[in-house]
Amino acid sequence: MSSVANNIKRFLEEIPDNVQLIPISKTKPDEMIMDAWNSGYKIFGENKVQELCRKYEELPKDINWHMVGHLQSNKVKYIAPFVHLIHAVDSYKLLKIINREAIKAGRTIDVLFQLHIASEETKFGLSADELYSLFDTNEFQDIKNVRIKGVMGMATLTSDELVVGKEFGRLYKIYSEIKDRYFRDMDYFSEVSMGMSSDYKIAIREGSTMIRIGSAIFGYRN
Ligand SMILES: *Cc1c(COP(=O)(O)O)cnc(C)c1O
Repeated sequence: MSSVANNIKRFLEEIPDNVQLIPISKTKPDEMIMDAWNSGYKIFGENKVQELCRKYEELPKDINWHMVGHLQSNKVKYIAPFVHLIHAVDSYKLLKIINREAIKAGRTIDVLFQLHIASEETKFGLSADELYSLFDTNEFQDIKNVRIKGVMGMATLTSDELVVGKEFGRLYKIYSEIKDRYFRDMDYFSEVSMGMSSDYKIAIREGSTMIRIGSAIFGYRN
């Protein structure tokens, strides 16, 4: 078994059944993805539209592709026909554009809202208050071709596990509050995408349902 396929197998054995593994294949060659595909794993994530589209074109069409990185409005059209889940919606404007492109593609597109939970200024994402006020707008009812499945966030890049745990805990709390207030009867609103190679164990402990694992599966990136 190749090392990529083996790493995926080890993750699947380690994580609870209710947590989905999203291997992040960014910058890695098609052959590595095919190693995993040949072993039966067909879910991958990318963070750049251009690379995602190229891989979608070249690789088998039964792969579920997740877009996990920051998404520019003018690029939504390229991924709308095939993307399985968009993890990082961070504005109402972007949501409307995804809805428009989903209509054009004749699809409903699943998305997560990215929340800003880290202390770093540079990370993208909405604050909890921004998200609550977004849900309170009436216009929201017009968004029919986008299905909001939950939230996503990235913790501060630090070795301090207490800090990371607190940030993930806060993200889970915001998720629960939003579920209570706006999605109480919607079973599909059930995802908390948090945890990467360095902090997935903490994320799972804090309630993650999707971990996005790059380097621990595919090896280090330059
Ligand atoms: C690259 C990336 C990951 C995976 O990062 P690793 O530390 O390599 O596991 C997860 N989420 C996003 C948004 C990424 O861009």
